[in-house]
Amino acid sequence: MQTQAPWRSAALKAGARRDEFLPFHVPLIGEEEIAAVEAVLRSGWLTTGQRALEFERRFAEFVGAPHAVAVNSCTAALHLALEAIGLEPGDEVILPTMTFAATAEVVHYLRAVPVLVDCRADTLNIDPEQFAAAITAKTRAVIPVHMAGQPCEMDAIRAIAGAHKLRVIEDAAHALPALYHRRRIGALGDITCFSFYATKTITTGEGGMATTASAEWAEKMRVLSLHGISHDAWKRYSAAGSWSYEILRPGFKYNLTDIAAALGLEQLKKCRSFHEARKRIARAYDEGFEDLPEIATPARVADTEHAWHLYVIQLDLEGLTIDRGAFIQALKERNIGTSVHFIPLHLHPYYRGRFEPAKERFKNAERAYERIVSLPIYPAMAPADVDDVIHAVRALVRKYRR
Ligand SMILES: *Cc1c(COP(=O)(O)O)cnc(C)c1O
Repeated sequence: MQTQAPWRSAALKAGARRDEFLPFHVPLIGEEEIAAVEAVLRSGWLTTGQRALEFERRFAEFVGAPHAVAVNSCTAALHLALEAIGLEPGDEVILPTMTFAATAEVVHYLRAVPVLVDCRADTLNIDPEQFAAAITAKTRAVIPVHMAGQPCEMDAIRAIAGAHKLRVIEDAAHALPALYHRRRIGALGDITCFSFYATKTITTGEGGMATTASAEWAEKMRVLSLHGISHDAWKRYSAAGSWSYEILRPGFKYNLTDIAAALGLEQLKKCRSFHEARKRIARAYDEGFEDLPEIATPARVADTEHAWHLYVIQLDLEGLTIDRGAFIQALKERNIGTSVHFIPLHLHPYYRGRFEPAKERFKNAERAYERIVSLPIYPAMAPADVDDVIHAVRALVRKYRR
């Protein structure tokens, strides 16, 4: 017989509240990261160089992609990906409304048009049927977002894209290290873009990576990431290099520093153990809320491995006397930090006017938006922190149950 989890009895104590605020996210930085950054600071070479090249090699190896290009954000990676495939002004790019600003913003960089579509009700990932229905003669690409770290239905998406000669650029900001049909996200699409922002599954403070199987696209992204010049600074200023370079086309300033790359190399070594920790927390939450009909836990999808960047619950508003905003406030009063991923793009002022207010168009995203709460899930959490979150959610459900 299973012994009772401690929070089940603890949850019976009314009004219990942890003493210290539990932040929604804290990065886990060890002595290894500090030593690696210190070594770069002492080396005399701070910007893009050997560490950045090694980070690219190790990252490509890790996800099983032939090429990886390190940049200073996932937004930069997405932008360069769209440049690489030759997106032109007026072209349409299909992407989910349930995403972060960056996914759509980069389409505007090229004076192309983002076309928003609805998500699935369960995974919150782009709905392949909605994607197919949104294709026009102007569509050039689709940007699936692996929401929370749950891989999208890549077979369906790639089949639809293939039939219409569309490029698939994956926004994998949440999806390191996720698996789809036993292959790592990063080794499937035309170009896959990762984020090492401070809250992501591994971090370089700010940073990103684009992976691809195409040598041509990788080279194009590499050249564009540093002013469109033919030789990178490392080659120019090292003993082996020369002063000469050529501007091949106007580029951008998106290169990743060796300081950040040194941090990234150490974080990448820990990626698997971080993932194990996240999986343990996800399992604890699953079990902790299993008997609560008021809390829907994240959908489990067969033959995929979730990266667990986020753990998004959905409140059953019909079963509760409290709404999502008040639920978050009440968790805060119990010293639990949470967040919401995401406010669908079409509800923001800029996009609101650009999409016909067809009532049912984004019904899954709108329904989910009113119900979603992202709970803390990161390897720096102690088991007691996880118990406190479970305890607080359970206490609120009991208090506000209809
Ligand atoms: C964080 C995030 C990005 C942007 O990543 P940056 O590295 O901050 O540019 C893009 N898309 C999604 C879905 C994200 O969550």
